Parts: sequence; structure tokens; C-alpha cells
Amino acid sequence: MKAPAVICKAKPHKLFANCSMWPVVLVLLFLGLSAQAAEPPQVVVGIAPIHSLVAGVMAGVAEPQLLVRGNVSPHAYMLKPSQVRRLHRADLVVWVGESVESFLPRVLRNLSPTTQQIKLMDLPAMVLLSPREGGLWREQGEGDHEHHAEHHEHGSVDGHLWLDPQNARVIVAAVAARLSAIDAAHADQYQRNSHALLNRLEVLDAQLKRRLDGVQRVPYLVFHDAYHYLEARYGLNAIGSITVNPGRKPGARRISDIRQKVAASGARCIFSEPQFSASVTAVISDGFNVKTAVLDPMGAGLASGPELYFELMRNLAASLVGCLGHEGDSGH
Ligand SMILES: [Zn+2]
Repeated sequence: MKAPAVICKAKPHKLFANCSMWPVVLVLLFLGLSAQAAEPPQVVVGIAPIHSLVAGVMAGVAEPQLLVRGNVSPHAYMLKPSQVRRLHRADLVVWVGESVESFLPRVLRNLSPTTQQIKLMDLPAMVLLSPREGGLWREQGEGDHEHHAEHHEHGSVDGHLWLDPQNARVIVAAVAARLSAIDAAHADQYQRNSHALLNRLEVLDAQLKRRLDGVQRVPYLVFHDAYHYLEARYGLNAIGSITVNPGRKPGARRISDIRQKVAASGARCIFSEPQFSASVTAVISDGFNVKTAVLDPMGAGLASGPELYFELMRNLAASLVGCLGHEGDSGH
């Protein structure tokens, strides 16, 4: 142990005046630095579309872990004990907010104070919309109001904010910034990934706009009020949702109201969702000249990972155009 002794002589320091401490200090320093360089942060994400964006930011570094797979609705989800343990080990949790992952706040309160969170609803740049009341909505533009995170009260925000590619860009930028701060060793990679993703999302937005051009005025009914952001971004004409609460089946009175609205509006299509039974859709469309199809806001059946978000958004546009477009002009 000659070298530390020399250093000790050359640079005496009050705290480590005892030369025998230097090897220990150097070893600890080395361990600290190498641990930081080798170990990327453990990131846990609530739902599949957000996981996809986070996975894109972390590509080449590590994979984030996903809590709710795309084939399950998060609205009535229960965490497994293994997932609670995983949350306790996390360095960063990325979630939308209590209106989507209602199962999370209770667990998050008990996590170590060193676990960081990104709650997407609270990001200042996020464009937020209000949930609509009653399921059979007013005409478009009548009461839609857009607001930013700092102005909302909890419970009054529609949580399906990822269904707008511009909000997805806000998510990517925020996640990349936070990961770069937590894990400086990989900051360059996070920033490179983020730039590439932001560009791809801009291209996706333009593609969706072109694709949906021509079906904006066609009225249709959705299963639950999940697509406000998509409708607002591309000017679509959804007239209402079958359920007010996706966890509950609509009663006979409500089904009769919906059938009246479908008849009066001339709705061309009724969309079910893979996370819920399609039997109600069949009852509502029975006897009408209305088509049925599937819209998937969560990514059921898609492989989780960076491509899921893009596939999910393209699938939504394809389902809408396929059902709302006139036969023969199904493309764009
Ligand atoms: Zn939902």
C-alpha cells in the first residue's frame, strides 16, 4: 500500500490524516462510482401505452417494468403482492394519476422517500381534458374545455391523456429529463432516445391527421369515455359512451336511452373494447343499420415495448377509418 501513503503525504487532509484510511476511502469511492455506472435505475410503469414510451426512452439501457398489461382494464385493477414488492424496490414510478391507476396511491404512500415518481397528470406542459358527463354527450365544441395541469382539481381530469401524440411528447421529454438526473451515467443515451422519439411522435401525429381526414363528421358511439384526447386532437365526432362507469354494466333504461340517441344521430358505428365484453354493444346495435368494431385504448394483444404506443395509435385510426369510412374509401 505504497501509493496511498504517497498521496497522503502529498495532500494531507484533516479528516483522513491517518494514512491507513486511504485505501478504504479509495475502495469505497471506486465501488460507489462503478455501482452507479453499472446499475441503471429500476423503473416501474402503471399501464402499457405509457410503459411503451418509457421503454423507448430507456432503450439500450434497461427495460422498465409494467404493472397492468394491455389486455386488462386498469380501472378496477388489483396489484399482486409481487408487484407491490417490485414497487418497493423501484427508483422511479411513472403513472398517469388516480383516475387511471386507482390502485396505486395507497401503495405509493408507503414507498421509501427515495423512490421518485412522475405523475403524468401533474406535468405542467400536459394538456388535460375534463371527463364528460352522463355518457351521452352534448354536441361537439359546446362545452369542451382544455386546461393545463396547474389548474385542475383532482377527479375532474380525464386520465386517458396518452391518446394525444402531443401529450406523448410531453411524457417522453419529462421521463428523459428525470432519468438523466437519476442516472447521469446514461444521460446521453436517454437524450438521444428522447430526440428520436419526439421526432417519431411528430410524424405519427401528422400521419394520424391525414388518415382520419374525411371521417371527422361521422357520428359514432364508444364503449367508455376513453378517447376524448383523440377526438379533440383530430376533430372526431363521437356522440357518447355506452358506459358511464366501465366497471358497471348499463341497465335497461340506459340502453333504451342509448338506442334512441343512436337512432337520432345516425351513428354509423358502435365500438366495443377488448378489455370488456362486447355483449352490450350487440344489444344496442340490434335492429339498427349500424356497424360494430373494436377500439383499443390500452394495447391488448400488442407486445409490450417501444413499438406498442405507435401500433396502438395506428390501430385506433385504422379501426375508426375502417368503420366510419364509406366502403371503397377505407384507406385515406
Ligand atoms: Zn379508461
